[in-house]
Amino acid sequence: MKIAISMAALAAALVASPVLAQQAPAATQSATPTAADAEAFLAKAEQTLFDQSIVSGRAAWINATYITDDTDAMASYFGAIDTKMRVDYALDAAKYATAPGLSEETKRRLTLLRTALTLPAPTTPGAAEELNDLATRLQSAYGKGKGTLNGQPINGSDIEEKMGTDRNPEELKEMWVSWHDNVGAPMRQDYAKLVSIANAGSKELGFADTGAMWRSKYDMPAADFAKLTDKIWGEVKPLYDQLHCYTRTKLNEKYGDAVQPKTGPIRADLLGNMWAQEWGNIYKIVAPEGAGDLGYDVTDLLTAKDYDQTRMVKAGEGFYSSLGFEKLPQSFWDRSQIVKPRDREVVCHASAWDLDNKNDIRIKMCTKVNGDDFVTIHHELGHNYYQRAYQIQKPLYLDGANDGFHEAIGDFIALSITPDYLVKIGLLDPAKVPGADKDLGLLLRQAMDKVAFLPFGLLIDKWRWGVFDGSIPESQYEKAWTDLRTQYQGIVPPVSRDETKFDAGGKFHIPGNTPYARYFLARVLQFQFYEAACKQAGWTGPLHRCSFYGNKEVGAKLNAMLEMGASKPWPDALQAFTGSREMSGKALVNYFAPLQKWLIAQNKGKSCGW
Ligand SMILES: [Zn+2]
Repeated sequence: MKIAISMAALAAALVASPVLAQQAPAATQSATPTAADAEAFLAKAEQTLFDQSIVSGRAAWINATYITDDTDAMASYFGAIDTKMRVDYALDAAKYATAPGLSEETKRRLTLLRTALTLPAPTTPGAAEELNDLATRLQSAYGKGKGTLNGQPINGSDIEEKMGTDRNPEELKEMWVSWHDNVGAPMRQDYAKLVSIANAGSKELGFADTGAMWRSKYDMPAADFAKLTDKIWGEVKPLYDQLHCYTRTKLNEKYGDAVQPKTGPIRADLLGNMWAQEWGNIYKIVAPEGAGDLGYDVTDLLTAKDYDQTRMVKAGEGFYSSLGFEKLPQSFWDRSQIVKPRDREVVCHASAWDLDNKNDIRIKMCTKVNGDDFVTIHHELGHNYYQRAYQIQKPLYLDGANDGFHEAIGDFIALSITPDYLVKIGLLDPAKVPGADKDLGLLLRQAMDKVAFLPFGLLIDKWRWGVFDGSIPESQYEKAWTDLRTQYQGIVPPVSRDETKFDAGGKFHIPGNTPYARYFLARVLQFQFYEAACKQAGWTGPLHRCSFYGNKEVGAKLNAMLEMGASKPWPDALQAFTGSREMSGKALVNYFAPLQKWLIAQNKGKSCGW
């Protein structure tokens, strides 16, 4: 559910192909560039990238909605052009950044160009090719990875699904161990090599290491960003600890002491997810008696009212229209892929696109008439409305305020699909709105995904920052990973691990080289946005019941934040909508306050922690 092609996504494309930082930078020939040189360079770079992104975007769209050998070749042809351009411009931007007398505005745009890459290669001959080969090999090893179940091979998506539904601890253990042994362990040396090359590239761009470069995208010194994430974690940890304690008790009741002891960490393979990152799949094991069932099901409601896929998207549009946003353009309806075509291969993974950095916004989904996709539509449209709102900005500012914002907008709107909202759009009978006695079920189901994710969202990059800065040497990759998982998540592998393993490689974003802090930020930001919107709407009831559907004042404030794009430091954008300049976990804690109170009561007499 990511944004696909836009100026912003050009940077994301580099995740897949960090090629070609080969050329000597084309920067100015004079030793010390002037501020005027920097301005001229930026104007040219922005226009070139802007124009190129439109051509590449169209090629990528055709490829994603009509997969053939030819469209694959076209998309990668244009992708490589984008990539090369970005690398050259990043190196140039690093040089112009030293020019005397630069305005803040110019500095900001140079920084955005310089930090747009995820894996920069150094200019050493052969380094770019080697880095590209390593990145491709790691991704492809992950894509082709298989575990086993009852001795039979099982691929990545099947094993992931199976771990969500299988409740046999021996089978779960086999799947967990075989996946990490088969997929992660062989990547170890390639990954270490990739780290050293990317670090050399980051140094050329003026950063201490690649992790420092990633952390420099947040309008503050890299070290301060690490502290900020720790501060947020401190705010939400007491809630996580209670959820952990309660879940451990329920798992102990189900499986017995031999599988899941009453104390200590939780066995990682029992939580319904390969990485124990979201626990919603085992909701039935923890559901509170009597409050677990909501009494209605969105899929049934959609079916009963004869909704088809397009009507579902119209309902999503209706939410944004009710806030005062302009309707989607006719081209959205003409050009989006809402239903899976019958006669060709397409990429079904839901995404939102901005083809011309203006009004040609679209979604690409293989929508099914069900409750999950109803949520996904509201989420994807959040990206589209964000993209359309910031089209007024300079090309380098055509992006979210930071990378957590873009995902958080859609999620925040999706949080608003409350029973009240379903009544307002005529889907739910007012008499069927679940009473307050169902609140704990509603909240616990949400928390099993949203709260359980928090320590995982944090530790992925904690590990990677340590790997990039050398505080986690190659000889301790596995120990550091397992230690962080135990320290933050309170989980342990089902069998003991040693340094012949590489469990980090068993998670897509490590071989895929996708920074992860954004997902942690999006989790807390969406609740900050939601709380702010509910306050503006004058909501006084329990936060999780609030719907601000139809509130134009909320919409106007939201738009004020969205239209800023990346033009200002993110605290300015956050302030425009929420009044606060601080990213914080407090809104999330407020949302779950009734649940936290209930969990504390359930955990009474238990020795929590691990
Ligand atoms: Zn998304």
